[in-house]
Amino acid sequence: MSKRDYYEVLGVSKSASPEEVKKAYRQLAMQYHPDRNPDDQEAEARFKEAAEAYETLSDAPKRQQYDRFGSDGMRGGMGGFGGGMEFDLSDALRTFMGGFGGFGDIFGESRQRSGPQRGRDMQVRLQLTMQEVATGVEKKIKIKRLVHCESCDGKGARSDSDIQSCSDCGGSGQVRQVSRSILGQFVNVATCPRCRGEGRVIVKPCITCHGTGQKKGESTLTVKIPAGVSTGNYITLNDEGDVGPNGGPAGKVIVLIEEKEDPRFERHGDDVLYRLNIGFPQAVLGDEIEIPTLLGKAKLHVEAGTQSGKILRMRNKGIPNLHSSGKGDQLVQVHVWTPTKLSKELKNQIEQMSDQKELKPKPDQMY
Ligand SMILES: [Zn+2]
Ligand SMILES: [Zn+2]
Repeated sequence: MSKRDYYEVLGVSKSASPEEVKKAYRQLAMQYHPDRNPDDQEAEARFKEAAEAYETLSDAPKRQQYDRFGSDGMRGGMGGFGGGMEFDLSDALRTFMGGFGGFGDIFGESRQRSGPQRGRDMQVRLQLTMQEVATGVEKKIKIKRLVHCESCDGKGARSDSDIQSCSDCGGSGQVRQVSRSILGQFVNVATCPRCRGEGRVIVKPCITCHGTGQKKGESTLTVKIPAGVSTGNYITLNDEGDVGPNGGPAGKVIVLIEEKEDPRFERHGDDVLYRLNIGFPQAVLGDEIEIPTLLGKAKLHVEAGTQSGKILRMRNKGIPNLHSSGKGDQLVQVHVWTPTKLSKELKNQIEQMSDQKELKPKPDQMY
């Protein structure tokens, strides 16, 4: 089944504001939430589809990327960049929770959450020079993140026996209150206030982390960037984000690629354009000129009689294609440069040449 357009999935226009996107997603998520449609595969598929669309369209850089490249640019385009790209139900539920700060927000109920939880995902931006894009590069990135507290191994308690099932809710994390009304019995399910829905309580919290199981830390990540990436590409590093509370696993680190501008080169897909000024005699007589490329200097042959504006192609001196073994070219646009300061002697010589008909374009060469 081919993927539906994200805007179509949410039923919003391409120019929809973030609020409109959120509102549309909220409606669909409420309609198709698995808790409201138990054992309904169609509803589950719709729920996942909506969450996936929302995850992209609610995030400005991802939305921009999607607008430019479509879903291929989001996933297919990232083939081989680290795993975790398949969007599954747990991703959909996480998006749902993340989008609205919890299930309770929407349904007026609370959801049972107990035990270790996955840590937060993080985004970091990584700037690359055009040279690094051309060669591929290994980068080290220092990030501040939450790591497991060493004193308690992330558990939050002084010892294992200090973690106990919550006696108020029997470990379910929820308490039920039954009330009567003219319509009959009402059962109200609420988060257990004692354990805050976790189903367990820490009798003696770890002194170092005060029971969170987390502490502030730093780590240095090594990211391998393949040649040929561009702004908007991202690389996912699983399990390198913040660790979760209560010994939960770490979230992802999403490394967003940003290209730095290079005053010498202009990127056009896999090709790079370089503008080269040459003197009038070089244009007339031809020359071998050494010019910079992304991979060091190279000789460019300028033929005799080269016109200003002509584009010369240096094969395979561009950027490798991210998805194939192909490589772009360096295009060199030649401009004939005009001197503005001349010695009297040189000026005289040029004045003497200026009457030569051969040095002027003929009427049919004037445009
Ligand atoms: Zn409880
Ligand atoms: Zn601790």
